[in-house]
Amino acid sequence: MPAGDTDCLFCRIVDGDVPADVVRESERTLAFRDINPQAPVHVLVVSREHHASAGELAAADPHTAAEVLREAAAVAGAEGADAGYRIVFNTGAAAGQSVPHVHAHVLGGRSLGWPPG
Ligand code: 5GP
Ligand code: ZN
Repeated sequence: MPAGDTDCLFCRIVDGDVPADVVRESERTLAFRDINPQAPVHVLVVSREHHASAGELAAADPHTAAEVLREAAAVAGAEGADAGYRIVFNTGAAAGQSVPHVHAHVLGGRSLGWPPG
């Protein structure tokens, strides 16, 4: 499904209808800062097209799934998260997914505990 789903917050950000602090763009992805950062570096990388989850994106469009990962790594590099960073795809309500449009959280800039909460 293309972006433009007016019920989807991240489609609206991709379409420019909701403002965001964009840090990086590629043909098929957009990266912007999380509005409620959990680490000094906290950027979301989304597909421009609407897919509900990482698994659904990978099944429907593996090329874009790879681009999301590549862009996530590029964001970490550009943000100076050299000591280490984490890419997280919360999937489903029990895992805390609150926006049903695939997004990679790129977290870094501090030491990150394991296991996550
Ligand atoms: P989830 O909980 O689905 O894994 O992640 C959704 C993320 O989107 C949350 O970390 C939340 O802070 C972020 N978020 C929610 N609304 C907005 C918004 O309007 N703008 C931005 N930039 N981030 C948002
Ligand atoms: Zn969407």
